[in-house]
Amino acid sequence: MEKTAVFPGSFDPFTIGHESIVLRALSLFDKIIIGVGSNVGKQPFFSLEKRVEMISVLFQDDPRVEVIGYDDLTIEFCKRVGATHMLRGLRTSADFEYEKSIAQVNQVMLPEVESVFMLTLPQHVSINSSVVREILRFGGDVSQFVPAGMVPYL
Ligand code: ADP
Repeated sequence: MEKTAVFPGSFDPFTIGHESIVLRALSLFDKIIIGVGSNVGKQPFFSLEKRVEMISVLFQDDPRVEVIGYDDLTIEFCKRVGATHMLRGLRTSADFEYEKSIAQVNQVMLPEVESVFMLTLPQHVSINSSVVREILRFGGDVSQFVPAGMVPYL
């Protein structure tokens, strides 16, 4: 059976930490669908359409990676796209505690989709979307923290 992983997140914006997880996970899955969540309850910095567009450009030459926006429950999205796995990145022990509870609830609600966690590379542990947003708000240079192909879109 084909292994299809959904990598869900807000990706507001996508960083080199996210990119690294996708690239490393390609050795484990036949296909990775980057699920860009609409971020219910929070006004995003970049619109859903813009986030999907920016990430799509990065992977346009790799047919194994697809980028799709969604605005419902992640497990519903997983069902819709036929996912076999859900992929998440782990930076810290706080991430682990948070991810553990979500994965265990998801396991009850959708047992056919297995959650898989990948440890962040040490050099990416401190990189997160909120820091990038903060730098962008003040007109700073984020080019070290986002994939090179995304810089023209910021
Ligand atoms: P969410 O709002 O779902 O936490 P994020 O866009 O912040 O969405 O993160 C999506 C996924 O990417 C999560 O699994 C998160 O742990 C992971 N992630 C975030 N930043 C990094 C990073 N620097 N390195 C590796 N994984 C990361």
